[in-house]
Amino acid sequence: MYEEAVELAKRRGFFWPSFSIYGGFAGFYDYGPLGVLLKDNIVRVWKEEYLNDGAIFLDSPNVTPEPVFRASGHLARFSDLAAECEHCKNKFKLETVLEFNKIKYIPATLQDAEELAGQSNLKCPVCGSIIKKVYDFNLMYRVTGDYYLRPETAQGIFVNFKLLANYNRGKLPMIVGQQGKGFRNEISPRQSLIRLREFNQCETEVFLDPENLEFRELYDFKKIIMRPNTGEELYISVKEAYEKGIISSQAFAYFVLKTQIILEKIGISNERLRFRQHDPDERAHYAADSWDAEGLIDNEWFEIVGIANRTDFDLKNHEGSSGEQMRININGRDVMPYVIEPSYGIDRILLTLISQTMDKRDGKNLLRLPYYMAPYHVAVFPLMKKDSLKERAEELYSGLKNIDKYVLYDEAGTIGKRYARQDEIGTPYCITVDYQTLEDNTVTLRNRDTADQERIKIDDLLKGDYIKSLIENKLKL
Ligand code: AMP
Repeated sequence: MYEEAVELAKRRGFFWPSFSIYGGFAGFYDYGPLGVLLKDNIVRVWKEEYLNDGAIFLDSPNVTPEPVFRASGHLARFSDLAAECEHCKNKFKLETVLEFNKIKYIPATLQDAEELAGQSNLKCPVCGSIIKKVYDFNLMYRVTGDYYLRPETAQGIFVNFKLLANYNRGKLPMIVGQQGKGFRNEISPRQSLIRLREFNQCETEVFLDPENLEFRELYDFKKIIMRPNTGEELYISVKEAYEKGIISSQAFAYFVLKTQIILEKIGISNERLRFRQHDPDERAHYAADSWDAEGLIDNEWFEIVGIANRTDFDLKNHEGSSGEQMRININGRDVMPYVIEPSYGIDRILLTLISQTMDKRDGKNLLRLPYYMAPYHVAVFPLMKKDSLKERAEELYSGLKNIDKYVLYDEAGTIGKRYARQDEIGTPYCITVDYQTLEDNTVTLRNRDTADQERIKIDDLLKGDYIKSLIENKLKL
């Protein structure tokens, strides 16, 4: 449903390409009125789930001075191997050229890539000429000589480690979350929200005592597809994966499980989600082990969350470069913590969510978002604009707004069209004020998923937690 999802997103106001009046620029997207609300809901689930585990949060700048990225290794190593066709001047990720030429081997270094380009006739995917030029392309945006836009939010947390640890009274484990923008000068942005140049991340850095790589107890949750880098595909629970030694540490397994639960809450289907371990030469420069949560859209898997074991790589480098001690004292031991990082790509999660929950009923679109994730919870309609139905509907609308801000009012077009409009944006409930309302003060309440309607007293609807219960799926229609 990728194509349909992107079309719906643009037409109904979830997201669309930025700067389109100036011809559009690859890799930049705006969130429209519904997208902003849906994105907030995704972030809220992430934040609340981590609050449950005692997380604290930080908000640090996008613009970051060079010494930070010199220390973190991003300046030297945060790059993609790229290729340029000297005939048509197109630039590609080397992987794209290799894929086009049906070459499975992926060189790990620039030297390997140069050798490969020298030996094979790599055809340009656009014009077919032979590509000879391969090079390392750093993905960071340079703002001025001495500043870069951050390619991940994580470094803001690492450079603040001492202050955060003091705030947390020196306790480990410590979880610090940061939600914000990341910027990468991607060589070939693609597939709307999948590969952007400016994107939204929710990152959590989990600081652990290296002598105790354990977090809270693992529990048996649903089985899921797991692909360790040894090649086999398993269908097991995360707990089983840990017990079988497929996931290295208990704490790492806990945050894989946590990610499965967060994505499930958001509404990503467990059947269309898998965890895949990186091959050693695929890992980022800071990672000793990495697993990606991948979501399935149509027949393609996309990374939506990256979970990395960053060890003490970042803290050690910042300590070395800044001279600031990045350790805490635990019972007389001087400890530099180990870090596990679950990093959530909010744009990709949102796209996966829309693609996976899009459905059709009688040829019309239906977005089966979990009720609490929907941009609006309830829509209120007068059956007609005349005979005081409009006034009664407006009155109900303002009454409901006192209880729940995510309420819409719509009086345009036939009632069927109004239901269809709400189904398409995932609104779980529609309320219609009709002639019977004038007699007995009841309205119809229609459920998005079943299209069933029942009559309900306005007084009941306006009771404090009625709508809340509907949205939390406690009351069934
Ligand atoms: P990474 O640090 O590369 O593991 O990125 C963490 C998460 O950010 C990924 O799982 C993606 O969901 C998201 N992400 C990374 N790069 C991009 C991009 N260019 N566009 C959109 N999302 C991205």
